[in-house]
Amino acid sequence: MGDVASWAVLVWAVGIGLASTAVSALYLHRGLAHQAVRFTPVGDQILWTLTWLFTGIRPSEWVDVHMRHHRFADQEGDPHSPVVHGLVKILAFNAFYYRRAVRAQQPGQTHVPHLRAREERDPLRSRGWLGVVVAMAGAAVIAGPIVGPVIIALQGVVYVVISGLVNGLCHWVGDVEFDAPGRNIHNPLIAFITAGESLHNTHHRSPGRANLRTRSTDVDTAYMLALLLRRIGFVSHVRRGRTLASVSS
Ligand SMILES: [Zn+2]
Ligand SMILES: [Zn+2]
Repeated sequence: MGDVASWAVLVWAVGIGLASTAVSALYLHRGLAHQAVRFTPVGDQILWTLTWLFTGIRPSEWVDVHMRHHRFADQEGDPHSPVVHGLVKILAFNAFYYRRAVRAQQPGQTHVPHLRAREERDPLRSRGWLGVVVAMAGAAVIAGPIVGPVIIALQGVVYVVISGLVNGLCHWVGDVEFDAPGRNIHNPLIAFITAGESLHNTHHRSPGRANLRTRSTDVDTAYMLALLLRRIGFVSHVRRGRTLASVSS
């Protein structure tokens, strides 16, 4: 691909896709949705901008869809449950189910009116498609007019595939450690690529907990990132959450 080797394009795309997943796990999920991590004003602006550039997601929409997932976990009404819709469909068409859930949201009903108000005050950074266009333009300047946009497009694919793994596999295969609503699973094998989100049984058991690790071998990159950002002043608070009781205890 021009002067850039195809493997290098792939490495960049996968790297940015993993980083976008970590930003999403930390900011959209544990931060804006569950308040398990709180950010300083500067950290909040940086993460809001990275979310805009690399995920194309409008935060209030993501939080509303996600809250419906918790409320109806693996029952009718869950926007992306493999138990309700089928595992293959969620793995393959996760983005479609997300968009459908966004369209189904009643305009006046939101869990996060403060985020809606913020988006209205910040119309540029609340248009996801515009963020992707800006990211592609920036990548074109850095890596070339074809390679740059291709990297951003491929990283988007990586991001969507990993989201599908969390929404699909993490409600399907793995260990059940705690009683929690839905068929959510502790899946440490894909924890590294999902930024710890696949430690999913812990999350549904205690959504307000920033740290999803329950075993010494668990990897929770989003939690480690929260601790790192707290150290350098971008995170103000990391909620530990209560100790969980195993189903076998
Ligand atoms: Zn879930
Ligand atoms: Zn959640």
